[in-house]
Amino acid sequence: MAAPSQSRQATYDAIVIGAGIQGSFAAYHLAQRHRETLLLEQFILPHSRGSSHGQSRITRTAYPREPYARMMPDSFHLWQQLEVEAGTSLYRRTGLVVLGPAGDPELEGCRRSLGAAEVLDATVLAQRFPGLQLHAGEAAVWDGTGGVLFADRALRAVQDVFRRLGGTLRDGEKVLRVEPGAVLTVTTTTGVYRAPRLIITAGAWTGALVAPLGLCLPLQPLRIDVCYWREKEPGSPSAGRAGPCFMALGLSQAPHGIYGLPALEYPGLVKMCYHHGSPVDPEERDRAPPGAPRPDVAILSSFISSYLPGLEPWPAVVETCLYTNTPDEDFILDRHPKFSNIIIGAGFSGHGFKLAPVVGKLLCELSLGEEPSHSTAPFAVTRFPGVLQAAL
Ligand SMILES: Cc1cc2nc3c(=O)[nH]c(=O)nc-3n(C[C@H](O)[C@H](O)[C@H](O)COP(=O)(O)OP(=O)(O)OC[C@H]3O[C@@H](n4cnc5c(N)ncnc54)[C@H](O)[C@@H]3O)c2cc1C
Repeated sequence: MAAPSQSRQATYDAIVIGAGIQGSFAAYHLAQRHRETLLLEQFILPHSRGSSHGQSRITRTAYPREPYARMMPDSFHLWQQLEVEAGTSLYRRTGLVVLGPAGDPELEGCRRSLGAAEVLDATVLAQRFPGLQLHAGEAAVWDGTGGVLFADRALRAVQDVFRRLGGTLRDGEKVLRVEPGAVLTVTTTTGVYRAPRLIITAGAWTGALVAPLGLCLPLQPLRIDVCYWREKEPGSPSAGRAGPCFMALGLSQAPHGIYGLPALEYPGLVKMCYHHGSPVDPEERDRAPPGAPRPDVAILSSFISSYLPGLEPWPAVVETCLYTNTPDEDFILDRHPKFSNIIIGAGFSGHGFKLAPVVGKLLCELSLGEEPSHSTAPFAVTRFPGVLQAAL
């Protein structure tokens, strides 16, 4: 690409690429620590082309894997801190039902993470949440901390506080090139910027950005159908606005899991998605041929008929979003193995939103050479063999 014509030049303490929820929180923590920080975003904000848009995300204490369960109390605390700083509410407590075959390892992991978890059998579940049905051999646990994070509002809030702390956010400015060095150079469509540290949080575009830096990360962008399902009787107690969030794990008919949130975006429409999608290039995500088969929607329809008969079994609204999955569905939070002043936060595998305040803190700490507040060992780049290319 040609060099930018109207060049802007500046030097910062830190540059962050990608103003989704992870990059925005990383920039916020840097600004909290009085580092002059530049946050770059390729699209004009707000936008719906990445992974952080929309009104709602689930948060919860229940986590099948321990490293995440250990970070959740910190995350709840940091979300509350942002609510205070931004003067707005970002979370609605609804509680969360996690259901699956009794003894399922993921369900058991969730139960363990909750400490003294309340186990609900079919009778108790039916009394408490009429509309959500358990079947023989299945069990459910109740996470009273579960609820909805208001995603768009949260993204705006963290960016507003970042700016208020003196941070610079430039949107509509795509990063074209990163030149490593003790002082890195970042070239965008309109400027050239320098800093001694760089954080890359570019979502589904991360693979393309780090490839010229000699890294071949096993990141798979997936197109997710975000489906909203109409209540047969508007205002029903458990499927509608007043119902809990839920997750279904370990079901043979839905091997990647299903999750749902009470009606929020659209009156009377419950949000429910399959926790998997189709491999996609993020630049081509809308090119699915019309009428292409949607196995995820079929899985969801069949789940509704069997577990939530109060909903119509065909989606009333379908939107799209992107996951960026790693092979083990664990995050990547690490330094570049060769250029230690380049930090990468990627591969959030469809469960990164709730943890973004902690992810941002860890990325900030790594970039400043501080001891991370939580172990980042499970999130090392080098757990994947062959990521470092020989050329650089
Ligand atoms: C349908 C759906 C439901 C989900 N539900 C939940 C949930 O209930 N709970 C939960 O915890 N998580 C959930 N997630 C996951 C969560 O939303 C993601 O993990 C999170 O939003 C990822 O944020 P990100 O900042 O990594 O990516 P993004 O939000 O995609 O941000 C990356 C940004 O980088 C920018 N960028 C890329 N390349 C460049 C470049 N060259 N120059 C400048 N900018 C660039 C992009 O434009 C983008 O804005 C869900 C995700 C989806 C899609």
